[in-house]
Amino acid sequence: MKILVTGGAGFIGSAVVRLAVARGHQVVNLDALTYAACLENVAPVAESPLYTFEHADIRDRAALDRIFAAHRPDVVMHLAAESHVDRSIDGPGDFIETNITGTYQMLEAARAYWTREGRPAGFRFHHISTDEVFGSLPADPSVKFTEDTPYDPRSPYSASKAASDHLVRAWHETYGLPVVLTNCSNNYGPYHFPEKLVPVIILNALAGKPLPIYGDGSNIRDWLYVEDHADALLLVLAQGEPGRSYNIGGENERTNLELVRTLCAILDEKRPKASGSYADQITFVTDRPGHDARYAIDPGRIRAELGWRPSVTVEEGLARTVQWYLDNEAWWRPLQGRKGVGERLGVKA
Ligand code: NAD
Repeated sequence: MKILVTGGAGFIGSAVVRLAVARGHQVVNLDALTYAACLENVAPVAESPLYTFEHADIRDRAALDRIFAAHRPDVVMHLAAESHVDRSIDGPGDFIETNITGTYQMLEAARAYWTREGRPAGFRFHHISTDEVFGSLPADPSVKFTEDTPYDPRSPYSASKAASDHLVRAWHETYGLPVVLTNCSNNYGPYHFPEKLVPVIILNALAGKPLPIYGDGSNIRDWLYVEDHADALLLVLAQGEPGRSYNIGGENERTNLELVRTLCAILDEKRPKASGSYADQITFVTDRPGHDARYAIDPGRIRAELGWRPSVTVEEGLARTVQWYLDNEAWWRPLQGRKGVGERLGVKA
């Protein structure tokens, strides 16, 4: 299968690219290489004859038309997006343009190509989205996001992703474009850009800096190892029903404080400090405006219909992640100098 992946130089997109090539698929990686991108993320497959890179912006319709015509993909996996909630609060414009207008341009380019090719039955436009479109849940653990939960986005990031989800569904209903959608919980793992919570905590801990936690640390997130997400995405691409959406989650709810304490305990074991614990560096900082209290995914549909399950527990995945950052300073060190990185979460990283 030839897959056109957008955003394949980012965190999740690169995990998809690496896994798809490892499974023998041809991959065309279309990426604008924004501040969040890193071509090192796909270095393990860059020399493969199955892999091609296209430097292009999803808002550029002429470039998209050229890439569809040149590569004639069987399917599309659309991950390119502005993805950092804090940046969306500081400056929502890029989120509206890339996540909404860019998705519109991708849909139109895909529809034109699919029509030209005679509407092949196997074509899919797989739109990768987030559980944040559903808003915030109460503490009651029996209440989780299902595919039928009404949308209630509360940040510029989640609102832009919600808008893009609606566009994708509309292109299915109106034009018959064979789409599938996935909404996933928080990812963590190797190659996570060092402005997101898990790498910020690991790298600040190692540097002896404060470990910033928003508010009182009670916000709950449902954590999924990125390689398990990539595996779920390829499964939905192959077996998902057109027009349907699938929630993906690891059923690993943790408060932010619990997550940070777990990371500290792993670091205490792997790279002990001269005295005390990394947890001594935990610092509570002013909360993010509109900070959603709880996200939790009910992955019942993908489990029952497609037989998917995550392969690692959160403790195992976090231990692998910490080890990866310990082993890959040459990857993360240069990224810390990029635009705005380290100015998040109220302290310098
Ligand atoms: P990321 O920020 O790490 O990577 C995004 C990639 O998209 C980068 O390589 C960037 O260069 C590229 N890109 C941005 N704007 C572009 C444009 N205009 N044209 C072409 N390429 C562009 O993001 P991520 O964390 O890997 O997330 C990927 C997707 O998964 C996003 O759609 C996001 O909404 C979704 N998602 C993320 C999470 C998570 O926990 N990170 C969870 C669920 C869903």
